[in-house]
Amino acid sequence: MSPRRLLALFVVTLTAAWGWDALVLNPMTGEWPWLIRQHGLYLTGIWSIGLMSLAMVLSVRPAWLETPLNGMDKIYSAHKWAGILGISAGIAHWLVKQAGSPLKSLVGTAGRPAKMPLFEFMSPVHGLAKDVGEWVLYALIFMLVISLWKRFPYRPWRLLHKAMPALYLLLVFHSFALMPTSYWSGLLGGLTALLLLAGSVASVISIKQKIGQRHRHEGRIVSVKQHSNSILEVNCDAGANWPGHEPGQFAFVTFDAREGAHPFTIASAPVAGSNQITFQIKALGDYTRALPHMIQPGQDVCIEGPYGRLDHHLARNDAAQIWVGGGIGITPFLAWLEDFSQIPHKTAIDFHYCVRDAKTDPFVARIERLCHDLPSVTLHVHDASQQNYLRVEDLVENRPVGQKLDVWYCGPAGLATTLRKRLKGLGQYDARFHQEAFEMR
Ligand SMILES: Cc1cc2nc3c(=O)[nH]c(=O)nc-3n(C[C@H](O)[C@H](O)[C@H](O)COP(=O)(O)OP(=O)(O)OC[C@H]3O[C@@H](n4cnc5c(N)ncnc54)[C@H](O)[C@@H]3O)c2cc1C
Repeated sequence: MSPRRLLALFVVTLTAAWGWDALVLNPMTGEWPWLIRQHGLYLTGIWSIGLMSLAMVLSVRPAWLETPLNGMDKIYSAHKWAGILGISAGIAHWLVKQAGSPLKSLVGTAGRPAKMPLFEFMSPVHGLAKDVGEWVLYALIFMLVISLWKRFPYRPWRLLHKAMPALYLLLVFHSFALMPTSYWSGLLGGLTALLLLAGSVASVISIKQKIGQRHRHEGRIVSVKQHSNSILEVNCDAGANWPGHEPGQFAFVTFDAREGAHPFTIASAPVAGSNQITFQIKALGDYTRALPHMIQPGQDVCIEGPYGRLDHHLARNDAAQIWVGGGIGITPFLAWLEDFSQIPHKTAIDFHYCVRDAKTDPFVARIERLCHDLPSVTLHVHDASQQNYLRVEDLVENRPVGQKLDVWYCGPAGLATTLRKRLKGLGQYDARFHQEAFEMR
């Protein structure tokens, strides 16, 4: 299921549960402007806390959701959008609340529905719960702005993002104190209680820094090699408890506990009887630039995973396979090709590798060698320094109209969008695009 479909299903379920409770089981009476305002207030509140709970649950890297949601990168995408929509619903909730005063001056208070009873034992803190809801919303709006504003540096963003579980627990308090008691019975009550409980447990896991704990493996760095093009090859022994990985999966790697975990694709195929895995790390930011001076063989490393569902075996049997790797997005394909050299593959594959400069690229020679021994794989290197850019026409060259195409993509997001759009624009192929997201923010 795609993140978009999950979120749509989630919001529809919440709305249906609310509708059954608020419109059928416990209908309010009053004049329609006030009824709309009151229903709007509660519905946006339910949406907001429901989506924030979902975002919290998804933030703790629930590996059991990888199969239905198609990989940890998609879980992160669903987490991000649940958060964005949850905060947006929170803003709508606040606006509807503010609409009370203008509505009073416009239509008067006659026809205003009677206040719905709240939990009696929470009455001493009702005022506080309202204030807390407002303060938390301001903090969340700030988080939303810096999340969407991509120029805001990742590291301080991540530090500030750590406040989210605590903010969420304050929202749980707000919701528990201010949700009408009648809402706690029936389907809506059960659903809300479940979401608040699951979200609170996830918050505690996050605050105690136990995210992904069951998938953490204590390993050791075996070798470190600096390639050209600012790429560092790090070979690690993933430790005795490493469960093994599928080619194309990734792991969260902690070389330094103060810095925390960074996701990197496992760029080597699994080898029977060995727990050694290799990462190819490009200096894309402050930390990855400093990494060559910070790590050395023999050093401990924590490897959390493996995660991800970038798996060419999921291709349709009757579809042509096209692989596209751009820049450091070559890493999952390195693992796939190595795997093929152990277990040869029969389906024909067109493999397009986009590089800035083939002469200095550290992987071209290696991929050429691997592909040379694999008759099923046809390699096309697109060298930007020679103005040989990958175009959608290259993907469909000599292909009959109507053919099924399974495209596996890992590389810059911009190129993915262009290829995906143009392929769709051709309107002549039954194409499916499988993409590993290298960005989690
Ligand atoms: C599933 C996946 C697989 C990846 N595989 C590889 C790989 O094989 N080789 C490779 O070179 N790069 C890979 N990346 C990208 C790599 O994780 C980032 O380049 C690296 O974390 C940048 O860190 P920085 O502090 O140097 O850069 P910064 O400038 O701080 O960050 C650059 C961007 O990297 C991402 N990022 C930074 N830190 C983290 C973090 N702790 N957790 C999640 N994302 C972060 C953010 O999107 C950020 O905007 C992968 C990313 C993902 C999500």
